[in-house]
Amino acid sequence: MLSAEEGIVDAFVFGGPKSKLRSLASPWGAGRAFLYHDPVRDFLKLSDFEVQRPFSGLRENLRKIVSASLVAELLIKTSGGGGDFARVLDMSVDCLGAIEDLGEERVDYPLILFIWRLVELIGLLPETATCVLCGKAMEAGESRLWMPREGGFACPDCRPPEGDAPEAPRLSAGALRWLDRARELPSVGAAEVGLDRSSRSGLRRLCFGLARDAVDGTLESLSAGVGIL
Ligand SMILES: [Zn+2]
Repeated sequence: MLSAEEGIVDAFVFGGPKSKLRSLASPWGAGRAFLYHDPVRDFLKLSDFEVQRPFSGLRENLRKIVSASLVAELLIKTSGGGGDFARVLDMSVDCLGAIEDLGEERVDYPLILFIWRLVELIGLLPETATCVLCGKAMEAGESRLWMPREGGFACPDCRPPEGDAPEAPRLSAGALRWLDRARELPSVGAAEVGLDRSSRSGLRRLCFGLARDAVDGTLESLSAGVGIL
């Protein structure tokens, strides 16, 4: 579990599949956990869980399940964002709540925003204002081409011809405006304004790439979610 005070905490849950505690502690509930430290065997045991938000709506839709799994996997693999756990917990609850409340076709908005915010918090968000190749400041209305090897965005002058980088995601001017506007909004509010198909797909691919970079490898939820997310 992710705790506001301690970050990622490992605790055992005892009881069979039908036990009340086990069902209360099923993914992805948010609430107050009561832990007991066994001094002899030196482990933590979950002794009670007061559920405040059960997020049961997440379990009814495959796309929502994969999205929520990706949030959880990122939290575990980044050690809860590495610090400022209270904020990361707020971000996570906000994101899971939005994934639960929104229609299936809009769940990538809170997911994108969660990844962007987490990567920013870890300090791995690439610079979007200047070109990674020539250092020139880029206009707000220009789209940026992601250069994975350089870890930054290329301006129109430096960007390779279309054919050279067919797979590189683009951060469109619309996507930049959306991210800027979403900065201070809860995820559900941010998802009210949609992006055009190509901006949305570019931003999504960019965020999934940033998420993989942040954990230095593969993300099982993304591999399992191919064709779903
Ligand atoms: Zn340039």
